[in-house]
Amino acid sequence: MVKSSVLGYPRIGADREWKKALEAYWAGKIDNEAFESQLQEIRLNHLRKQQAKGIDYIPVNDFSYYDHILDTATMFGLIPERFAYEGGKVPLSVYYGIARGTRDAAASEMTKWFNTNYHYIVPELSGLTPVLTENKPLVAYQEAKEKLGIEGKPVLVGPLTFVKLSKGYSASETGTWINRLLPLYVQIVQELQQEGVQWVQIDEPILVTQLSDEDLQHLRTIYETLHASAPTINIMLQTYFEAVERYQDIVALPVQGIGLDFVHGRPGNQQSLQSFAFPQDKVLGAGIIDGRGIWRSSLQEKLDLLNELSAIVSPDRLIIQSSCSLLHVPVTTDRETKLTSELKNALAFADEKLDELVLLTQALTSGIGAIATQLYTSARAILALHQSNERNRSDVQQAVEKLRVQEPVRSVPFAQRHLAQQDKWQLPLLPTTTIGSFPQSAEVRKARQSWRKGEWNQERYTDFIHQHIDTWIGLQEEIGLDVLVHGEFERTDMVEFFGEKLAGFAFTQNGWVQSYGSRCVKPPVIFGDVAFDGNMTVEETVYAQSQTKKPVKGMLTGPITIMNWSFVRDDIPREHIAYQLAYALRQEVEALEQAGIGMIQVDEPAVREGLPLKVNEQEAYLAWAVKAFKITTCTVQETTQIHTHMCYCEFHDMIGSIEAMDADVISIETSRSHGELIHSFELNTYKLGIGLGVYDIHSPRVPSVKEMTDMIQRALRVLPAQLFWINPDCGLKTRGYDETVASLQNMVEATRLARNTY
Ligand code: GLN
Ligand code: ZN
Repeated sequence: MVKSSVLGYPRIGADREWKKALEAYWAGKIDNEAFESQLQEIRLNHLRKQQAKGIDYIPVNDFSYYDHILDTATMFGLIPERFAYEGGKVPLSVYYGIARGTRDAAASEMTKWFNTNYHYIVPELSGLTPVLTENKPLVAYQEAKEKLGIEGKPVLVGPLTFVKLSKGYSASETGTWINRLLPLYVQIVQELQQEGVQWVQIDEPILVTQLSDEDLQHLRTIYETLHASAPTINIMLQTYFEAVERYQDIVALPVQGIGLDFVHGRPGNQQSLQSFAFPQDKVLGAGIIDGRGIWRSSLQEKLDLLNELSAIVSPDRLIIQSSCSLLHVPVTTDRETKLTSELKNALAFADEKLDELVLLTQALTSGIGAIATQLYTSARAILALHQSNERNRSDVQQAVEKLRVQEPVRSVPFAQRHLAQQDKWQLPLLPTTTIGSFPQSAEVRKARQSWRKGEWNQERYTDFIHQHIDTWIGLQEEIGLDVLVHGEFERTDMVEFFGEKLAGFAFTQNGWVQSYGSRCVKPPVIFGDVAFDGNMTVEETVYAQSQTKKPVKGMLTGPITIMNWSFVRDDIPREHIAYQLAYALRQEVEALEQAGIGMIQVDEPAVREGLPLKVNEQEAYLAWAVKAFKITTCTVQETTQIHTHMCYCEFHDMIGSIEAMDADVISIETSRSHGELIHSFELNTYKLGIGLGVYDIHSPRVPSVKEMTDMIQRALRVLPAQLFWINPDCGLKTRGYDETVASLQNMVEATRLARNTY
């Protein structure tokens, strides 16, 4: 009999009650006991829901108090020495200390979970000895069984993935670390077996990345050891986000099930299955419902896929599951009351995906007649959206098709533009500027809310924004900056602001997903053809320019960043969505230019976030990402200066693509990786204008003139002064007024000193 399975359920709760509980606890508003009981209630609720829907294999231990990698690290007692920890079960104070920092110790680093927008806490292994502090999967299993009679499927992060995602050891010590951890994994799995657990899900998403022969040897050691130590428990070796590398080696491991992604790992996984078959003694966890996308599945297409799979794997060895944990999608579409029915019916968040899993399982068990109505409803919902006006804008499609087949280029090359721009703008050597936003005080946020709620009329709101622009234009002039900005006071968020003004976007009321810790984001939904629908930034920018003789830089978010921070439609390639966005944004760039704005910054902080996991696909992605940027910016006059900005630059391996964007000036975040960046410029020449952030905006600390002078001097050893700009690391919206003014004053002073030495 075919069974259904879920790899993980969202933690945050339909009403973000998980986030609220965490934040109340951190703020000291609830005590340990109340907190534990609130979290238990949330956890059990999630299990009840899956039970009621009829999911066969319900995950346990997928729940977390913050992050599942941090859970794994603390379960193994891997607490960096700077945190006071005396052994035994890890107290919440230590657990949250690692995640968020304490007065005496900095938090552990956080980084992206594969190619998702979820961030995990990076374990620091250096100098530590692992011990099992608590068998968390076992505790979770017992709880589900005792409280709800659920025969749960404990989930844990596999040893290879865990070690590879950790830091604080050299590559040659990978084996040593696996050998240290393996006995603890053995103990966990043995105790689970003893308890009567039938299936345990061991997540090894690292298997979709490039593996060395050594990695493969580690993998064999791990799973041979686990199998030998707990021979009667069933291990589902779970992968996701892409097709596995080395399929044949992986399916030969001594485990009882292999979980593969047939949404984001397609066609790769399916081809492997067809070419090399699937072992007769194993169960296939077929991840066919998209765990990361928000769209309703075509049940018919999924049945077709299942038919293809059943030709290779007999139905009694098939488990129908989500392609990955549902952590990456919002909880339910139930509470969306403002979306059009066309759109709402075409969506499936976590709970709706549970329904889809159950339906497909029923169809395979009892024949498709059992789900005839639902087959029809799903097909109709998808068709309705497909045929909607928003998805059929021939004006956009034709224009974008033309752009797609052309090579976007500026009218003249950089060297020539550079001279023309110097001539026009007459900027001093080492020009100073900022990245765009100025402090968003409580007052600014309140004003925006009052206006959104209709308590303030447009006129009052516009006046308010203008007053803020006045203040900050005045301050920037006083401080002595060379290129000014209007400050972005009217923007809530750099993606939402544009999404609300462009056609093809929708906004949910409750479509929250966890980004890191208690931090949730509500990405816009790009559901239709994206189209320019009138000016978005011209009014504020032109107003700011009217208040000063210095140049004011216009400020837009770039196409790739808007795309990577949204949920996007899956009926056309991402590349095409990027070009649609680029075409729309180009119209804004042109409108700004026409309104007399001669410097325009198009921010692309999230280019790297869309980088495919497969190394051989990265080049193609970067090529069309660069092209989208160029479509946005290439039509301006040679004297119009195009700026761009990027954050967290693991810049070194992208330098070619960044140069290919052909922006006249790029500003990049460097504070956290300055040395490495400078090094990358020693190896490469960068021939366009560039500003390396000279101070870290993530801290309220005011950097001294000396610190910044040093930073500038170091950078000027590898970069030509004629191309160098001086700016902070990133936007200043999260900073306070006083520290911002003081820091910028010091920055300008440091620049003055640097100029004197030239
Ligand atoms: N212009 C934006 C700002 O200053 C850039 C933000 C970002 O890089 N994330 O806020
Ligand atoms: Zn930034």
